[in-house]
Amino acid sequence: MNVGLIGLGAMGEPMARHLHRHGLLRVVGNRSHGKAEQLAAALGVRAASEAADFADCDLVVLCVSADADVLQNVAALAPVLRVGAIVADHSTVSVDTAHAAAEQLAAHGIGFLDAPVSGGVEGARNGKLSVMVGGTQADLDTVRAALDCYAARITLMGDSGAGQASKAVNQVLVAGINEAVCEGLALGERLGLDPERLLPTLAAGAAGNWFLDKRGASMLRDAFVPGFKCAHLLKDLRIVQGMAHAAGTSSAVIDLALADYTALTEAGHGDADTSALIVRKRRR
Ligand code: NAP
Repeated sequence: MNVGLIGLGAMGEPMARHLHRHGLLRVVGNRSHGKAEQLAAALGVRAASEAADFADCDLVVLCVSADADVLQNVAALAPVLRVGAIVADHSTVSVDTAHAAAEQLAAHGIGFLDAPVSGGVEGARNGKLSVMVGGTQADLDTVRAALDCYAARITLMGDSGAGQASKAVNQVLVAGINEAVCEGLALGERLGLDPERLLPTLAAGAAGNWFLDKRGASMLRDAFVPGFKCAHLLKDLRIVQGMAHAAGTSSAVIDLALADYTALTEAGHGDADTSALIVRKRRR
């Protein structure tokens, strides 16, 4: 399998390295071309300067920022990839974007899997991501060996869009956990509790979770290196709020997180890790 990857950010760069380690990576691309040139030189693969550079790929993996970025890449790849090639998108975007991408590629005989991931940059680096897939079993079977390079679990959730629908559910949980952990730890600080004793004590009981484990100590040191950028979670929450409203379910957690991450992003923390939420929780 010849694999290309577009989007060499916090998630895409380690994914590319895993694909390379398994001998599958041929070409990398990125909006800021310098990142692609640098990684390509380090790994001995090609740096793409245009979509045609992916023409020999059986699979092109996307891990870009937002909906418009996915659609822009899909529009560029559709006329150049060969019939039978597959595009797998690990970005978090809307179900509508997944449908539009699948439709546009299908018109050229190219498969599409919406395949958002969960597990954070640690999951990407350790190759332990949970991948939630929308599309056909046949397309997933074709590319599973590539996704296996960085996944702990790959689940076909249903037809096109079901991966992004699952990721929307994931982000409700993520948003609520962030709210609870940041609010709790801000209170713990104010009460003068020793974080060296508090964090492992919380983690050992029913309050333990990924975010507390991976970001608890760093947020108490005011270290907000992403990780997962506030601006990306805000993008996700806008998508999820629309879905909850359309579905007629409660959006209380989503609404609170959306207000908090809007304020953080407007205050200039858009590129900070989502654990920067503790800054807002320190004052009423
Ligand atoms: P990131 O660090 O901001 O990286 C995004 C990368 O995509 C950057 O290198 C960017 O290039 C590139 N890019 C953006 N638009 C592009 C385009 N139109 N064409 C080519 N390259 C483009 O973001 P990330 O944290 O890796 O996240 C990527 C996606 O995965 C997002 O949708 C995010 O919501 C999702 N996600 C993130 C996490 C996480 O923990 N970080 C976890 C799960 C899912 P530049 O260098 O020019 O900016």
